[in-house]
Amino acid sequence: MGLDEDALEYHRTEPPGKLEIATTKPTNTQRDLQLAYSPGVAAPCLEIDENPGDAYEYTAKGNMVGVVSNGSAVLGLGDIGAQASKPVMEGKGVLFKRFADIDVFDIELDEHDTQAFIDAVAAMEPTFGGINLEDISAPECFVMEAELRERMDIPVFHDDQHGTAIISGAALINAAEISGKSLEDMRIVFSGAGASAIATARFYVSLGAKKENILMCDSSGIITEERAEAGDLNEYKREFARDVPEGDLADAMDDADVFVGLSIGGIVDQEMVRSMNENPIIFAMANPDPEITYEDAKNARDDTVIMGTGRSDYPNQVNNVLGFPFIFRGALDVRATDINEEMKTAAAEALAELARKDVPDEVVKAYGDQPLQFGPEYIIPKPVDPRVLFEVAPAVAEAAMESGAARAELDTDEYVETLEA
Ligand code: NAP
Ligand code: MG
Repeated sequence: MGLDEDALEYHRTEPPGKLEIATTKPTNTQRDLQLAYSPGVAAPCLEIDENPGDAYEYTAKGNMVGVVSNGSAVLGLGDIGAQASKPVMEGKGVLFKRFADIDVFDIELDEHDTQAFIDAVAAMEPTFGGINLEDISAPECFVMEAELRERMDIPVFHDDQHGTAIISGAALINAAEISGKSLEDMRIVFSGAGASAIATARFYVSLGAKKENILMCDSSGIITEERAEAGDLNEYKREFARDVPEGDLADAMDDADVFVGLSIGGIVDQEMVRSMNENPIIFAMANPDPEITYEDAKNARDDTVIMGTGRSDYPNQVNNVLGFPFIFRGALDVRATDINEEMKTAAAEALAELARKDVPDEVVKAYGDQPLQFGPEYIIPKPVDPRVLFEVAPAVAEAAMESGAARAELDTDEYVETLEA
């Protein structure tokens, strides 16, 4: 059977879907039920009424993330709407549970009006310890996330933006180290100026890249001041407009150190790779087909090409699952009010650091015994590496405490022990 048939069968098998609700307290006796519901339940209600923070003590809020979408940009499928997005949101719930033991309610909102969507999500704050916005089209996703972060006292994180930014940011830190380049001096070209590209460019700047060294291209070519003045660009693209002559992606890539592809497959050729600076870094992350294949990029030149893609069948897979479960784990465990820049940076640095350590045998075995050692073919950890939880969650929790986003303090060493247990 093909993948599609297998996937339909997987989802259809009784019970349909991939998630269910489970109880966590005894429910055997009449007494148990009196405690779980009326009349006993009034006691925790009154505690929370007196002190809203007690919701973290008496309810599942602190381990509960809302995965919220309106289905406007689902995978590579486009605007298929809220109902059709549900398998993806349930799937996100599976990953949260599997990798970080976080519970998810997937919320598919049939609402394309930006303000109405914002109001609906903001009203859900009591239920959740955090909100993962998912698969929402640009540029509305920027507005929604910014306003919700402002209005809500729990983390709001649009994973399509920041997941890619953080994980490819970790890859960039290590690729720079291996190729002897510094983020400050790198010339970076982006193909794509949508949700993930804008957030990734912003994040690279916060990691140390210079905005004036970034050239961004959309489907009409290089994003220039001239196009900005012509009123051709939304405000997010304008943020990266450069005072350079108009040109296409091939022009932009000439002499670049880094190529970041968050656009569409197959638009970069070997000639363009050859025009880049020595030992180029190429993150071709369009899914399912990268902007250029691993083989074509590697074979284009004789020096070292450090290559990453979104694919699991090649080295250096930039996979969001390396980020969101552990970032939310750390954020929830300090009852964070936000996932701020400090926490994102801490996550990227922890991932970069981990890739420099020896890889346990169990992880090597899971990847068919291919050698995994820090170098051009291994710049970020593998998604199934159990150490990612123990490294990233504490780093995020610590950054939350240091940056004032934490409502609860914890001892980092003890925290690592509880995660390992
Ligand atoms: P998006 O918001 O729809 O943005 C897509 C961008 O690509 C737009 O700016 C579009 O230009 C641009 N584009 C289209 N054709 C182009 C061309 N020929 N040359 C240059 N730019 C072109 O989508 P997104 O969510 O950012 O995702 C973009 C891609 O990245 C998708 O393939 C997605 O699967 C992939 N992605 C991968 C990962 C990962 O590997 N972890 C994570 C996130 C996204 P206009 O603005 O002119 O329309
Ligand atoms: Mg997504």
